[in-house]
Amino acid sequence: MTLPKVDIDCSKIFHNAQCLITQLGLKNISVTPVTKVFLGHPLIAEILIKAGAKTFADSRLENIQRLAQAGITQPKMLIRTPMLSQVTEVVKYCDISLNSEVDVIQQLSEAAKLTNTCHKIIIMVELGDLREGVMPERLIGFIQQIVTLPNINIMGIGTNLACRYGIATDHEKMALLSKIADELEAKFKLKFQMISGGNTASIDWALNNTRATRINHLRIGEAIFLGFDSLTQHQITGLHTNAITLTAEVIESKIKPSLPWGKRGTNAFGEKEEILDRGCVSQIIVALGRQDVCIAGLTPPDGMTIMSSTSDHLIIETSTESVMVGQTVKFNLDYSGLLSAMSSCFVRKSFNLIKVSQ
Ligand SMILES: *Cc1c(COP(=O)(O)O)cnc(C)c1O
Repeated sequence: MTLPKVDIDCSKIFHNAQCLITQLGLKNISVTPVTKVFLGHPLIAEILIKAGAKTFADSRLENIQRLAQAGITQPKMLIRTPMLSQVTEVVKYCDISLNSEVDVIQQLSEAAKLTNTCHKIIIMVELGDLREGVMPERLIGFIQQIVTLPNINIMGIGTNLACRYGIATDHEKMALLSKIADELEAKFKLKFQMISGGNTASIDWALNNTRATRINHLRIGEAIFLGFDSLTQHQITGLHTNAITLTAEVIESKIKPSLPWGKRGTNAFGEKEEILDRGCVSQIIVALGRQDVCIAGLTPPDGMTIMSSTSDHLIIETSTESVMVGQTVKFNLDYSGLLSAMSSCFVRKSFNLIKVSQ
């Protein structure tokens, strides 16, 4: 057994995906699973297809290429606005991309023309979280510049909330996006197929909303894999929150003073935290460090407190009976923990492939 490793319970991911696809489907909202935390892993794509996924989304071209090369034929959506330097590959591997720059869309049009394909785009609208998107008052001028471009199909509009500043999805934002869709359709004689209302942070609004809106699509990653709403830090009812765990091994276990001694500067990371003398403590070192995972994204088992971390060592104080060298410790992960652990080449990925019936 090679440690550290993430254990991925595919049956729980299947359940989460199926629940969300079904429940949001009842609200006439289609779900495109976002595979970026799994780097476009084909095994996860297969599970999601069994759970009802009809399309896939990822923020990185490499991950979308990986899906394509594994024979995943479902339409693929690039959810980060394309780099100008990648438009040829974007048109080749992605059916749809989210966009917020005229220059990029012009280049996508050129690239699509060369290969005689049609590239679909969703225009992102800025609704206050201040990441990607065209300011609402600039949309008409924006669309004027792209509406006649050949080989480009303006499939709809979308927005992204919650990621940068935690700005919530609410009825006001979704009603505004709907109204913008109506106005743009009327102005440009278009018919939008997709109004994409955001990510995991929009689920709570979508499931509880009873008023008519144009929102008919969400792009969802975190809720499928972690069962959490990042905005409220609450479990989403009915979803598993422990589908993915991280296990690492104890390499030292000792009683040590809590107070270091000697002349003191900053540590290896330029940090200098306050230290209280709490007498002697039970301290373990786990073979897991900042090169493996974002430590702030870990939740240790009850009775253990993460005190410090360095590149390769995680220092934990334990209140329970003494932990022995060679024992393992299992951590729960939040989004930052999951993203970093899955992206680290030092962390083995172990898929628990329970058979799922359709
Ligand atoms: C990552 C991402 C998503 C998915 O977000 P989750 O919080 O994981 O559901 C959706 N849209 C865009 C543009 C993203 O970058």
